[in-house]
Amino acid sequence: MTGGDDPARQLYDRIGAFLFDQRLDPSPTNYAFAYHLLHDPDGPLAQAVEALTEGGVRLTQRDIESLGCEPPANTAKAKEKVDGLVAQTQMQVEGFHDMVQAMRAETEGFGRDLAASADAIRRSAAATDVHAVQNVSQITATMLQRVHRAESQLESATREAVELRSKLEEARDNARRDPLTDLPNRRAFEEAYAAQLGTGERLCIAVCDVDHFKSVNDRFGHAVGDRVLRSIAQALSESCPGQLVARYGGEEFAILFSGTSIARARDTLDHARATVAAKRYRLRETDAPLGEITFSAGLTRVHPGEPLNASFHRADELLYDAKESGRNRVVIA
Ligand code: GH3
Ligand code: MG
Ligand code: MG
Repeated sequence: MTGGDDPARQLYDRIGAFLFDQRLDPSPTNYAFAYHLLHDPDGPLAQAVEALTEGGVRLTQRDIESLGCEPPANTAKAKEKVDGLVAQTQMQVEGFHDMVQAMRAETEGFGRDLAASADAIRRSAAATDVHAVQNVSQITATMLQRVHRAESQLESATREAVELRSKLEEARDNARRDPLTDLPNRRAFEEAYAAQLGTGERLCIAVCDVDHFKSVNDRFGHAVGDRVLRSIAQALSESCPGQLVARYGGEEFAILFSGTSIARARDTLDHARATVAAKRYRLRETDAPLGEITFSAGLTRVHPGEPLNASFHRADELLYDAKESGRNRVVIA
């Protein structure tokens, strides 16, 4: 069936054809992915897909998961909050500007009044003209009063701006941090990767995925699963000091090693793997053992100037090899 002239129908048909070609199930996730891809054929997602499917390679379900199609809800919310604070700060800065203008206008007015009074004193027969002196002293008193008022207004406005700036910094930080593990999130990882690429420093990237994690949730519940994720996040950060450890999504962590050979990065990562595998996880409430918790990882060098989607894809394929060859291991290439 073809779409005819109706653009909505055409888009729908293209989504169907894409899922069929790529042999992907028409699940809501895959459908949403295809929608985002085909709705914006020149967008970053389309470019990433093109890079992956070059030479007739089909997308895998893992590619769909790793590419994603929408920012997670908490990131979108954090961005909204940052945008709101930016707008508020902007308004405050404009308010300062108006306040300074008003103060300037007032001082100019006082200056004119004082000059006029001084003239009047000079013109009067004696400098003891009581009215003129009273006049000057009244103008000065009023001026001082207004200056004090303006000062205290400016002081409280400055206090508000300082508070707002620290909230803004906090919101910016939240947008780049995973609330469960407190690690940098995928967005922070992407930004750091781009920044590191520019320095020309040698880089390696690792993708780590917890083994059979679904069964931890199934046996002990989601809350225990969350605690396990936090514990693994902590072990990874402590085992890889000075390197960027991020929670990339779900039970997947990404590490960017910089200024390190791949052999050293492998040793570090393997030490982290052994540390996690050696832990004896227990239920807090009953002290019952959770059994062995392990992760698998793929590690690869980043070529000079190589975009994240390409190096990540390579590391992810190696992770897949690690899973296939028995899990609880690091595979490098
Ligand atoms: P594999 O060894 O092949 O990676 O198996 P797996 O069970 O780890 O992989 P699968 O992709 O089947 O399951 C991943 C599970 O991770 C499913 C999902 O519910 C769980 N998960 C993802 N994010 C979170 C989270 O934030 N908290 C908890 N508790 N579970 C999560
Ligand atoms: Mg996974
Ligand atoms: Mg897993």
